[in-house]
Amino acid sequence: MANIFTTCDLCAKEIHYGSAYVVIERNIEEAFHNVTSNKDETQIIDSEVLITLCGKCGNEFQYDVIAKIIQAVPANDYSIKKN
Ligand SMILES: [Zn+2]
Repeated sequence: MANIFTTCDLCAKEIHYGSAYVVIERNIEEAFHNVTSNKDETQIIDSEVLITLCGKCGNEFQYDVIAKIIQAVPANDYSIKKN
């Protein structure tokens, strides 16, 4: 019981610590150029988990469903501009 991290949003299977799982997140990121390393980098300002899947459901997850999730989030989300 104490080894349970969370449950799968599709099949409700328990996901234990140490088990691989799939997460789809909505991140707000800021890109910048690091002059010391001369590389482009990004910093995650905010991250929200949209769906958590066990390894089996994650491997079987249909990409068209991911596309529908992305399309449901407006590209010009007003809350991003407020931050
Ligand atoms: Zn599952």
